[in-house]
Amino acid sequence: MGMSAEEVHAVKAFGWAAKDQSGLLSPFHFSRRDTGEEDVRFKILYCGICHTDLHRIKNEWGGSKYPLVPGHEIVGVVTEVGAKVQKFKVEDRVGVGCLVGACHSCDNCSNNLENYCPKKILTYNATYHDGTTTYGGYSDHMVANEHYLVRIPDNLPLDAAAPLLCAGITVYSPLKFFQLDKPGLHVGVVGLGGLGHVGVKFAKAFGAKVTVISTSPNKKEEAIERLGADSFLVSRDPDQMQAAMGTMDGILDTVSAVHPLLPLLGLLKSHGKLIMVGAPDKPLELPVFPLLMGRKMVAGSGIGGMKETQEMVDFAAKHDITADIEVIPIDYVNTAMERLAKADVRYRFVIDVANTLKAA
Ligand code: NAP
Ligand code: ZN
Ligand code: ZN
Repeated sequence: MGMSAEEVHAVKAFGWAAKDQSGLLSPFHFSRRDTGEEDVRFKILYCGICHTDLHRIKNEWGGSKYPLVPGHEIVGVVTEVGAKVQKFKVEDRVGVGCLVGACHSCDNCSNNLENYCPKKILTYNATYHDGTTTYGGYSDHMVANEHYLVRIPDNLPLDAAAPLLCAGITVYSPLKFFQLDKPGLHVGVVGLGGLGHVGVKFAKAFGAKVTVISTSPNKKEEAIERLGADSFLVSRDPDQMQAAMGTMDGILDTVSAVHPLLPLLGLLKSHGKLIMVGAPDKPLELPVFPLLMGRKMVAGSGIGGMKETQEMVDFAAKHDITADIEVIPIDYVNTAMERLAKADVRYRFVIDVANTLKAA
């Protein structure tokens, strides 16, 4: 038997991986490729914990391959660049999100939509061009083609900027594409978690009136006073929902679990748009009558392309938008996952990789 491509890789790496679908993470030694001509190598400083990491480590969507090193809200500092790298140099502050590769020749890629490329390569749990498994940011360092790095502007703190790489672009892109970025619109955000809370901030920066729709009444005060939302609806309170019927131009649904759509469709005005970005593991029930009665639309959106991701980070820097975070040591990660499953995080866990990840 020959050696696997992973064994051939020269550079030792260390991180935490799920070894099976119990989802428990534990220390894991692996390797990464040498810095290729177009590659940038960087030391990871912080990595956000996206609910996708939780879906993946527990194999809730199917297709998880173990050992699985999660993490796609990765920021750090460049340590080495390949000979042909043009955009980055050593010591630059950089980030990597959900993507590390795509075909660069399909229609989507030609339109800067690598995120919709049929051959896109995800940052972890995927197979890279060289046949090796991709590993994410719960690890000491990373190497990626320069096309998949974004520059983090100097005024953004790296820890609170990390969640922009996935949560940020996932809410920014649909607000733009579905034209919910025009001042004066009324935008609803369902689920006040990692995606939802940055969704509130971007929608406010675009000039919208923003209403949070949440199952957690105890998030109301913070939503309004700290995050800047204009109003707050408890989705399990029929009276509150009834009173807000027909008032919204668009709704961003970030919920990670199966939930009813009927009450959300009721909140929309005629021609209103319900945009799904949360990714529950089972199909939702779609009542059609409320769509017909008002030409309403249901759509979906997945992260964003590299050009738009850089644009989003630059917009965030200009408008002082970062995530509200709880910085944690790596050995808290299993507890953090339990809390994330219960929507008990304000509003994103970020792992302090550089200071707490130590090879055993
Ligand atoms: P999160 O931080 O856990 O936030 C999800 C929020 O949904 C929770 O805080 C909670 O908000 C609400 N929620 C949870 N369970 C619920 C239930 N049973 N019924 C109603 N509301 C519920 O997760 P996240 O990191 O923001 O990710 C959210 C989802 O988006 C995940 O499914 C993730 O995989 C997906 N995602 C998609 C993309 C994409 O490209 N489309 C990118 C990243 C993530 P309240 O307490 O306010 O109710
Ligand atoms: Zn994510
Ligand atoms: Zn492509």
